[in-house]
Amino acid sequence: MEKTLAIIKPDAVARGLTGDILKRIEAAGLSIRAIRKLHLTRAQAELFYAVHKARPFYADLCKYMTSGPVVVAVLAAEGAIAKWRELMGATDPAKAAPGTIRREFGQNIEANATHGSDAPETAGQEIAFFFSGMEILS
Ligand code: GDP
Repeated sequence: MEKTLAIIKPDAVARGLTGDILKRIEAAGLSIRAIRKLHLTRAQAELFYAVHKARPFYADLCKYMTSGPVVVAVLAAEGAIAKWRELMGATDPAKAAPGTIRREFGQNIEANATHGSDAPETAGQEIAFFFSGMEILS
């Protein structure tokens, strides 16, 4: 069973969309194995997005991700990484397919409602960033 990390980003949490998004996650057959609400510090956001350090939007992205609480969750399913990214849709809500979370709930390319790991290696790193092994249902 593959695992991936999901984040419901500050814009979606602030607009009361947590329940809607979790409902879609479960309806798609993704099992929630751990979940927590937290407010990232600037240092934590910078570390989480360190891979984007050289990109022009890095500072804006870190500011946005610390603008309010987020919900982080570990999702499990066969092919969970691809499944969750498909459910989210493309990074830019304007380009995301109809019916996807980002298309329906995202506001712009930055405030795009959710995050999902993009590969097995990053999924492992991102899950370990937020959860210890004993906090995750096997
Ligand atoms: P993802 O894997 O679909 O989340 O996309 P990326 O890894 O490329 O980007 C990480 C996050 O950075 C995205 O989810 C957006 O929140 C933000 N982002 C991506 N591209 C841009 C951009 O061109 N401008 C801004 N302001 N934010 C961006």
